[in-house]
Amino acid sequence: MTVHFPFQNTYAALPASFFARVAPTPVAAPRLIKLNRPLAVHLGLDPDLLESPEGAEILAGKRVPEGADPIAMAYAGHQFGHFVPQLGDGRAILLGEVIDADGVRRDIQLKGSGPTPFSRRGDGRAALGPVLREYIVSEAMAALGIPTTRSLAAVITGENVMRETPLPGAVLTRIAASHIRVGTFQYFAARSDTEGVRRLADHVIARHYPHAADAERPYRALLEAVIARQADLVARWLLVGFIHGVMNTDNSSVAGETIDYGPCAFMDHYDPAKVFSSIDEMGRYAYANQPRIALWNLTRLAECLLPLLSDDKDKAIEEAQSILGEFAEQFASAYQTGLRSKIGLFTARDGDEALVQDLLDAMAKNQADFTLTFRRLSDAALDPDGDTEVRQLFAEPAAFDEWALRWRQRISGEPQTPAERQAAMRSVNPVFIPRNHRVEAVIEAAVNRDDFAPFEELLAVLAKPYQDQPDFAGYADPPEPHQCVLQTFCGT
Ligand code: AMP
Ligand code: MG
Repeated sequence: MTVHFPFQNTYAALPASFFARVAPTPVAAPRLIKLNRPLAVHLGLDPDLLESPEGAEILAGKRVPEGADPIAMAYAGHQFGHFVPQLGDGRAILLGEVIDADGVRRDIQLKGSGPTPFSRRGDGRAALGPVLREYIVSEAMAALGIPTTRSLAAVITGENVMRETPLPGAVLTRIAASHIRVGTFQYFAARSDTEGVRRLADHVIARHYPHAADAERPYRALLEAVIARQADLVARWLLVGFIHGVMNTDNSSVAGETIDYGPCAFMDHYDPAKVFSSIDEMGRYAYANQPRIALWNLTRLAECLLPLLSDDKDKAIEEAQSILGEFAEQFASAYQTGLRSKIGLFTARDGDEALVQDLLDAMAKNQADFTLTFRRLSDAALDPDGDTEVRQLFAEPAAFDEWALRWRQRISGEPQTPAERQAAMRSVNPVFIPRNHRVEAVIEAAVNRDDFAPFEELLAVLAKPYQDQPDFAGYADPPEPHQCVLQTFCGT
């Protein structure tokens, strides 16, 4: 039996300066712990073959499949605001690209598959805990309907990786629309390689934004398109309480997918200033700061594209500024539209923004759980008795009552039935998110006891985030005080 990947590799056909050719480093005793079978099928791969011993060896980087052209991609990036001219895939190797069932080109990348010329002092490896975290959170994001890289498989390598203590090593197979980052553009711009920037821009247009090729000004259209996708993406993050944790320019995808799940987390109680990442001491990537940071990252992208926008530098800057100026409006529109849906409004009226903001303010003041407040509000839209369940979430329940009166007044002016409103709200207000204490418990069981049953169960629950699952109701609960996860740690 041979595992066949129908590879079509366009990135590896770009100039040699774009990457380093490097094969994964074989590992001792690969063991497949999870294959995402539906995703495999969607990618045109045979899940049974991927689960065979040969498949596991491929997913562990022990064997390179036919047709693969393994490369580590070059990129730069601003890390916490500081520019590093060369980062690159230090522990990831792109095997190649396939066309999925929707006709979309997808990268198949191994993460944690050994050193590359970009590894610097790193070992090129990943530990099991962060691999499981990325698997869980990326698949949860996909089920929530948020653009994201996906997880195809997780394999244990049979080798330890040295962190503060020795930990089991693992490899994640990551699927992405592409792994091209803002930092990929910065890599060439930092070398004054305008031809490289142009080649990359042309590749990104052909791959992600083909309409831009027909625009009067293709590179302008490219920048506009990336800005629009990022504005939409960050609005979606905020609407589910997601905090990326490390929004460096090298972790910012030009295809508009959520990428590089490190110390990311969903918040429990609503707190706009919330930071989880242990390495984010200044709160640069706090929950509510994310739109501002996305714009900052996009501004770095625009700087790279200046030479393509106009030969006249001043003109190019002026143009870039006007395009970047569209971000605020696009973000606000996506965010406000999403918030209106979350409280069950079918129309937009003056005063809606203030109404929803007052709810958020009351939630913040009263430590109300973000996810449960909106979910329970969905049921309160059907039956006012449901208010009891919502107000319990507020430290001072009366804070909800005053708001609920205004809310009922507002929705009473719309023609939809309570059942229609409840159904619409339930379809945008998830009941299940990957709560940190659950993710930590899954990792603990896997790493310390080689028990993957909790991982499987959590994945199954998160695959249907908008459906009540009475047998698993506990997964919706916020942590007890002693279960609270205060910090998350970097994927390395
Ligand atoms: P990240 O924090 O995962 O976004 O990674 C930032 C940079 O560090 C990227 O260039 C990674 O490839 C590199 N890196 C992270 N962990 C390792 C590791 N264990 N070995 C080599 N390079 C790494
Ligand atoms: Mg990264």
